[in-house]
Amino acid sequence: SASLPLPSSPRVFTVANQKGGVGKTTSTVNLAAALARTGARVLVIDLDPQGNASTAVGVEHRSETSSVYDVMINDVPMADVVQKSPEFDALYCVPATIHLAGAEIELVSLVAREQRLRSALDTFLSETPEPFHYVFIDCPPSLGLLTINAFVAAQEVLIPIQCEYYALEGLSQLLNNIKLIERHLNPRLRVSTILMTMYDSRTNLANQVVDDVRAHFPKQVLTTLIPRSVRISEAPSYGQSVISYDQNSPGSLSYLEAAAEIAHRGAPK
Ligand code: ADP
Ligand code: MG
Repeated sequence: SASLPLPSSPRVFTVANQKGGVGKTTSTVNLAAALARTGARVLVIDLDPQGNASTAVGVEHRSETSSVYDVMINDVPMADVVQKSPEFDALYCVPATIHLAGAEIELVSLVAREQRLRSALDTFLSETPEPFHYVFIDCPPSLGLLTINAFVAAQEVLIPIQCEYYALEGLSQLLNNIKLIERHLNPRLRVSTILMTMYDSRTNLANQVVDDVRAHFPKQVLTTLIPRSVRISEAPSYGQSVISYDQNSPGSLSYLEAAAEIAHRGAPK
């Protein structure tokens, strides 16, 4: 596959939507894999206690594994917990373990509790011998301190939206929260990218939802739609992205195309 333009400094994305099951983890992992395959060095930070992103990229995340929990709560350097994915040489992951479930509470009493991930990531990115081009932070489906840490650490928000009837519901709350973060904690934060997921072209409803979201967010919505596909949902159980699991399937091709759009658009001004 053709190589894509690489950003001159790392683009850090938070993948967020307070709804569960909309394709946050799936999009995180497959966009990361797509970019890694086309020549970028990519880091996935798993910030969901369920650890689905860690599973999907095939890294270890048993309860004794050093993880993002140790980075945020115990000041362990990120370089000490990052693992290389067995799938691509250029794909890395900071895993999440079950301990992260307690972090939401433990963070409350810590100094600079909203900035813990950002400080750790900034240090890691500036000290790593080989530069990273992309970082994707996979968030839990809530707006607690973990997600706030992700918004503070990022410059860009990528919102996956499922092509279904209630797609826009709750989105204004998410956007308000992002505005608050921008005003008080992270002035550089932008909602740069919206990705429509689980698209089924046979239903009028899916097309209606896509039209609605495009009308509201003409600049942010990617042209590429991610189809509903069994291959996409099967891939994680093999510890693989769909890009490796079935590289010529429509799901794989759609994530490669979405990744190319993100690379060609570049970082927001
Ligand atoms: P979230 O991280 O937002 O909770 P996931 O990425 O885990 O959502 O996706 C929820 C479920 O939907 C998972 O079982 C996943 O495999 C499945 N899924 C995600 N995207 C697709 C798709 N394009 N086609 C079919 N199934 C999908
Ligand atoms: Mg998830």
